[in-house]
Amino acid sequence: MNTITTKRFNMEDISNAINIGLIVVDADSKVLLWNNWIAKHSDIQEADALNRLLENAFSEPVSAAFMTALKNTLAYRLPVVLSTALHRTPLPLYNASEANQPQTRMYQSITITPIQSQQDESCCLIQVTDSSTSIKREKMLRSHSEILKKEATTDGLTDINNRRFFDAHYEIAVAEAKRQKHPLSIYMIDIDFFKSYNDYYGHIAGDNAIKLVAGALQSQLSRATDIVARYGGEEFVLVMPHLPQATAEQFAEKLRRAVFNLAIPHINASPFHRLTISIGLCTGIPENDDNLLNKADAALYQAKQKGRNQYISLPLCETHEYLEQ
Ligand code: GH3
Ligand code: MG
Ligand code: MG
Repeated sequence: MNTITTKRFNMEDISNAINIGLIVVDADSKVLLWNNWIAKHSDIQEADALNRLLENAFSEPVSAAFMTALKNTLAYRLPVVLSTALHRTPLPLYNASEANQPQTRMYQSITITPIQSQQDESCCLIQVTDSSTSIKREKMLRSHSEILKKEATTDGLTDINNRRFFDAHYEIAVAEAKRQKHPLSIYMIDIDFFKSYNDYYGHIAGDNAIKLVAGALQSQLSRATDIVARYGGEEFVLVMPHLPQATAEQFAEKLRRAVFNLAIPHINASPFHRLTISIGLCTGIPENDDNLLNKADAALYQAKQKGRNQYISLPLCETHEYLEQ
């Protein structure tokens, strides 16, 4: 029984109707097929491209990475996929643009496959798809996820880093200080008599005061490696690497003064009758299980005991002097 059925359609019609670009080249990279999709997006008709070397068929140069991939496929008979991430626009193809808008190159995804011609020559089929939409979507998703990440690590009231950010950053900063053996300074900061501030001025004024203090602390920082975070309630924490202890102490005084100079009235805070902070500072080169945060907290407790509106500095290890410049 004869099982051969004749095709009831023409492959050329398929190649011209399909919504991807198709080019076939021979072993010398001469163009044998140039479908409508390629003609439309390159503005070069098939008749003008046929029998020309592919690198000369377009009116602009083809990328070197593309030509290398094509030569490799022809030489080794192995298919190649050009990664969109690395090669966004290998061929000079364009999307139709709005009137008066400059044309932008189409982002492309390209596959080069070895095939045999009817005369048994080795040829290559080049398939091109438009990845502009998926790249745009990917960019949008990336920017959304960056916004979400920022929101997840920012304190809603003060717009400075939140506790979650601090926890992650602190761990990294300690590990780095241990490895590089450089000093790290941790400042625990607490607003003085804040309960009575809230009681007297109200919670909204309290929130506002927390914002002002956060801004004053943040404005003192200038190095990319220094961070301030809201630790919780009316407490803040600062992380500063590479400071000798004496410099770290001068900085604590600068922080104290910055908040004092905000001159926020606090009628129930004696003797200054303005909003102040107490600071516990611990500086040291962490080793093993040393806990800078606990020590900074102990220093803060002492600052409160000694009358508030001041800093207390404790070295991480009593026998060390942290002098690194
Ligand atoms: P001390 O000088 O010993 O730190 O006294 P204090 O009154 O500041 O300490 P305490 O921990 O007793 O009170 C902290 C107060 O901070 C309690 C709470 O009313 C207030 N507070 C904490 N978080 C917020 C906040 O987000 N907004 C406002 N408005 N108040 C807050
Ligand atoms: Mg507190
Ligand atoms: Mg307090």
